Amino acid sequence: MRILIDFDETITTKDTISLLLSLPQHHLQPSHFSDIYLSAYKSHVKSVANVEDEINFQKQLLSVENTSINALQHEKFFKGITANQIARLSSEVAVQPGFFTFLRKCKTLNLAVSILSLNWSSVLIRSVLGEFGNDVEIVCNDLEMVDGVCTGNFKGNIRTGYDKLQYIRQFPQKVYIGDSRSDLLSLLASDVGIVMESGSLLKKSPWELKIKSLNEIRFVDKFTHRKVNEFTNREVDKCTNRKVNEFSNQLYKANWHDIVEFI
Ligand SMILES: [Mg+2]
Repeated sequence: MRILIDFDETITTKDTISLLLSLPQHHLQPSHFSDIYLSAYKSHVKSVANVEDEINFQKQLLSVENTSINALQHEKFFKGITANQIARLSSEVAVQPGFFTFLRKCKTLNLAVSILSLNWSSVLIRSVLGEFGNDVEIVCNDLEMVDGVCTGNFKGNIRTGYDKLQYIRQFPQKVYIGDSRSDLLSLLASDVGIVMESGSLLKKSPWELKIKSLNEIRFVDKFTHRKVNEFTNREVDKCTNRKVNEFSNQLYKANWHDIVEFI
């Protein structure tokens, strides 16, 4: 069983991309690239009513993401930024209350944890995790670093919610924790999908989601002692023991204190 967690605004209280964008001393301002992104995004917006629509929407979002990533690479915006400069940003990143207690408990229970993020720097994520930085797998849309210096290119391929979904499919049993629309497909495709109670997804989901409080799951055992799929309403085929549908229609909302109690 694996626990997969988004980074920005799930682990942190605020988005951290703007911190990364503030590092380079470049003749172009960060707003140049956010303007490119926003104009590409606006032309892409459309209404979405179900999982199939959302899969198509997220697949098509790749071209929007690539518009600004390609511009950043073309201008070599991050070239020359060092790993030390990025790591020092972690002092400006606030982590949500209870998150480190959660990581400590996962370590004690020997639970496998991955951070799956559209963030641009595994160096930043690892630095924010501090003493736990080497205990978790970090997968993101990463800046390419050679000998501790950024080349200006990106080497990661986690750019949309569809990329996240593709990544989590390798794990047969999983819990996913996220906050926003780019997490939606992964949340629905997990045995337990947990949305942060502060998450934007609760305020603006593409269609009405079925959401319970995590505290409403009242089992005597915790899921470390049971099969994860016993905690869901997902139908399992009795012959093959596989889930009938990849996507659940039940999500849970929680904060990190609730999640610590849950595991
Ligand atoms: Mg997020």
